[in-house]
Amino acid sequence: MSRRVGVLALQGDFAEHIRAFADLDCEAVPVKRPEEVLKCDALVIPGGESTTIGKLCERFHLGEAITELHRRGQPIWGTCAGMILLAKEINGSDQWRLGLMDITVQRNAFGRQVDSFEAELSVAGLADGPVRAVFIRAPFVTRVGEGVEVLARFEDKIVIVRQGNLLATAFHPELTSDSRVQQYFLDMIDQAL
Ligand code: GLN
Repeated sequence: MSRRVGVLALQGDFAEHIRAFADLDCEAVPVKRPEEVLKCDALVIPGGESTTIGKLCERFHLGEAITELHRRGQPIWGTCAGMILLAKEINGSDQWRLGLMDITVQRNAFGRQVDSFEAELSVAGLADGPVRAVFIRAPFVTRVGEGVEVLARFEDKIVIVRQGNLLATAFHPELTSDSRVQQYFLDMIDQAL
């Protein structure tokens, strides 16, 4: 099935997401403008700096378009900063966000000593063993609302969640050669089409 995945290309590691989807023979395109977002079957919000991406979303009126995509039932996946932007609540911050997912997140939650690290994670719904997860100044989820499924934890911290057609990962699947999280998202798109 042909699907058109938009990757929000305002700031952050959107190029890595595009490459990871291309390896799966999936058309992934950078999107920057509301009308480009609305032409996609699904959207990825990459890692980067959530305050910067949020400010640019506000400036270019992307919040309305992304919310409209969500309203149509089209899947959205946020990684790291993207998870923060999807969250309804961000501990101690009033920065701009989409607020589509009923979760609370803590930014830079793993502390300075462990700015970046890798870990093996067992993810609900992914067969063939744990995923190697790259965390970079990552958030984690401190509260999940009703209807939010927890797909993985690192130690006791929630790091992947799904709520209907929304997926959020605190880490960066686009930075490894394991494409099972991308494949999981593509399956969400196929089910939504
Ligand atoms: N620490 C960043 C933020 O709060 C997220 C880091 C990332 O996306 N790798 O926006």
